[in-house]
Amino acid sequence: MRERPSAPDGGAPDLRRSDPMCRVCQKRPEIPDERSGRCEACVKAGRMALRFRLAPGPGGAGLRVKAGEISPRALRQKWLSQLQAYGSQPQPRPHLGLHEAELVVAKDHLETIRVAADLAGQVPAVLEALRQAAARTDASW
Ligand SMILES: [Zn+2]
Repeated sequence: MRERPSAPDGGAPDLRRSDPMCRVCQKRPEIPDERSGRCEACVKAGRMALRFRLAPGPGGAGLRVKAGEISPRALRQKWLSQLQAYGSQPQPRPHLGLHEAELVVAKDHLETIRVAADLAGQVPAVLEALRQAAARTDASW
C-alpha cells in the first residue's frame, strides 16, 4: 500500500523529505499552511486525525487520556457511540510520539484508531481509556 516517492520531474526521488507529510494519510505531502497539516486529498475527503496523549491510569492501572485535540465533551458528543462500537484492532504507527493515540475520522465516520509504538502491547487499555474519556462531559482535560 505504501507509495514510493517519485520526483515530479521524473528524476531521482528526493530523499531529503523536505516536505512534511500529511498528518492523516502519511503518504502525500501536506498543503503548505493547511491548518491541520493535511494533503489535498484528505482535506477533500474531510479526513482528520484527532490526537490524544495518554498516561498511566489511577494507581498505575491501565491508561487514561491526559490531553487531546478535542475536548472530552466534543469527544462524547461526536464519537462516543462509534468508539463503543469500534471492533477493529488499533495499529501501532511510527509517526506517533510517546503515549499518543489518534482517531482517524472522515466527516462523521470513525475510520481507524492508531497508537504509538510504545502502546502496541496495551491496545485494549488504549481503547478503554478513549471510551472512558468519551464518557466524560468536561469542557477541558
Ligand atoms: Zn493525506
